[in-house]
Amino acid sequence: MSTQTLPGFDLAKVRADFPTLHQEVNGKPLVYFDNAATSQKPQLVIDRLDQYYARENSNVHRGVHTLSQQATDAYEHTRSLVQQMINAQHQHEIIYTKGTTEGINLIAFSFGQKYIKEGDEIIISTMEHHSNIVPWQLLCERTGAKLKVVPIFESGELDFEAYKNMLSEKTKLVSMVYISNSLGTINPMPEIIKLAHERDIPVLVDAAQVVPHMAVDVQELDADFMVFSGHKMFGPTGTGILYGKEKWLNDLPPWMGGGDMIKVVRFDHTTYSDLPHKFEAGTPNIAGAIGLGAGIEYINSIGYDAISAWEHELLAYGTEQLGTIPDIRFVGTAKEKASVISFLIGDIHPYDAGTILDQLGIAIRTGHHCTQPLMHHLQIPGTMRASFAFYNTKEEIDRLVEGIHRVKKMFG
Ligand code: PLP
Repeated sequence: MSTQTLPGFDLAKVRADFPTLHQEVNGKPLVYFDNAATSQKPQLVIDRLDQYYARENSNVHRGVHTLSQQATDAYEHTRSLVQQMINAQHQHEIIYTKGTTEGINLIAFSFGQKYIKEGDEIIISTMEHHSNIVPWQLLCERTGAKLKVVPIFESGELDFEAYKNMLSEKTKLVSMVYISNSLGTINPMPEIIKLAHERDIPVLVDAAQVVPHMAVDVQELDADFMVFSGHKMFGPTGTGILYGKEKWLNDLPPWMGGGDMIKVVRFDHTTYSDLPHKFEAGTPNIAGAIGLGAGIEYINSIGYDAISAWEHELLAYGTEQLGTIPDIRFVGTAKEKASVISFLIGDIHPYDAGTILDQLGIAIRTGHHCTQPLMHHLQIPGTMRASFAFYNTKEEIDRLVEGIHRVKKMFG
């Protein structure tokens, strides 16, 4: 176990909370560096899911009986934890989704239906995840609107001047990633939003890679919409959040119809529930939401200051140690970066490297990371990506470096 840590941060204790980390894969202790894809879950989250299914299972918002009320309370408690975590003004501005992807699709559908018409423009960037590209393409196909893509520099930083020049009276929405999952770039989101707001253009923030790593204050940021995934922030899969300013969420039409999202249903007309239920049709992922609450409480117990500080340390150490490998090429060298390191080693195909590393018990991600247009722009087939969480250690980074030396011997 690592002795290298920061004052006030008990890495050994943190690691003990994550059962998945303590196993051998292919006969070697697991090194899990695929956190940008999904994070591991602390025992507390696993226990909370178990408790719900074993003792509390019931549907929410529908029953007067005790179990249903308890489930509803626990389900709504998570909503208040999310509200506090991102400092939303109102609890009803927090909408449950099944992930970042669903949140973006919801806005593309709902905002699109009300506000987008032929000739309008929606701005995204070159470094977007497919989930922040395809829903807008579908909307453009439906309406005749146009997708505008902000270019990036070699370093993986956004060309801010180009963004500025792209904004016009035709722009109806900016939808942009805050932290790139492929490059680690932290985009200047406060400035991106400020500039759009000068023209009264709303902004959707893809915060999938932000919320697991650093504190976000939606009021300070002045985001109109912000989306993220529960499974990347130590919660269960199939959970996510759409934050929207009250004025927008009240204004937009619902996107899915069904139970729970209605006030009165007749065959000739229907009226809709108030927020947040207007956007939550059908039986939701109750267990997932309750488990997500446990995940947020876990993050709170560690604190974003400690999380960000340790991950920053890992990023600096990883960049330095990997930088000693001959032929390494870092993909994404922005000044402001999160704990994601994408790289290539000479001509070695990322897939081959990933396969050998897996044999050594090291889980990294290889490929296009759901950012094919970015890879196409960079003219590379993909990258190897090591993404760190606060439970990772410097010793694990040393093992990755050793592993890459093995890969080089085999393929170099
Ligand atoms: N946006 C970014 C930046 C991501 O990293 C991801 C997932 O990797 C997503 C969107 C999509 O998230 P999900 O698959 O949880 O909906």
